[in-house]
Amino acid sequence: MRYVVIGNPIAHSKSPQIHTAFAAQFALAPFSYERLLAPLEDFDGTVRSFVAAGGGGCNVTVPFKEAAYELASELTERAAAAGAVNTLVVRKDGSLLGDNTDGAGLVADLLRHRSLTGLRILVLGAGGAARGVLLPLATEQPASITLANRTASKALLLVDALSAKTSVPLQACGFAEIAGSFDVVINATSASLGGERIPLPPNVFAANALAYDMMYGKGETPFLAQAREAGVPLRVDGLGMLVGQAAEAFRLWTGHQPDVAPVLAEMRAGLAA
Ligand code: NDP
Repeated sequence: MRYVVIGNPIAHSKSPQIHTAFAAQFALAPFSYERLLAPLEDFDGTVRSFVAAGGGGCNVTVPFKEAAYELASELTERAAAAGAVNTLVVRKDGSLLGDNTDGAGLVADLLRHRSLTGLRILVLGAGGAARGVLLPLATEQPASITLANRTASKALLLVDALSAKTSVPLQACGFAEIAGSFDVVINATSASLGGERIPLPPNVFAANALAYDMMYGKGETPFLAQAREAGVPLRVDGLGMLVGQAAEAFRLWTGHQPDVAPVLAEMRAGLAA
């Protein structure tokens, strides 16, 4: 079966390496997974041609996650809540099921380090990534989730839209209004991409906090450096989230649950090289 990751640009995507490694765990053949560059103005046409040629499913990345949400004929509950689709499953009749596996990928990665039950979680950012992870985080029954964003009004809108869907207390604020300390602080902003730090109040990290940056790269991200300087003992980047969201997409497509750990280790070694 043929799978692709669609984006623009797409040359940097690590998804082919991840999915090829998953497929090898089950000796799936034939299995192919490639990068597919879609023109900015024709995501739908690119998907339709892929489906017509017998494609089995696709991952969707920047800037097409909202377009994939619009294109899907049916949405999973978590994709509907996220307002964005990162995984399309081509069903037998050619119709498209849209899912969002980013939240599942993040939660699985966090749970490798710590249970979230009863903890105070702070999510920084209110863009597509934050939107996709709030309800999956809430299913772990933390004590509370606070969403803080540079533009506070965006965090407020997001919390308004989602708070009826969970019993976990959700709060929203701007960075300057963050009050108290948190056991888990997740950076879902793109600040690290530009090498920028986030203006966080002192004591935002509780003792023994976990700091998580959705971004990853060869070296320490600016957010994780900030956390280290604040004395945070456990600091994790987003490579595990990337592999985790891919594992969930792979399971949807093939019915096989891949073992994430060896693939994450291989990707980590590749980053360090
Ligand atoms: P969006 O463009 O949708 O949102 C960007 C967010 O970052 C907004 O909340 C924006 O705030 C904030 N922001 C941007 N620049 C700064 C800054 N200099 N200081 C503070 N806040 C800033 O991006 P996404 O939500 O799609 O992605 C966010 C991050 O998550 C990216 O780094 C992306 O690579 C990563 N990601 C990682 C994944 C993984 O698998 N590891 C999966 C998905 C995303 P404002 O509203 O004020 O503009």
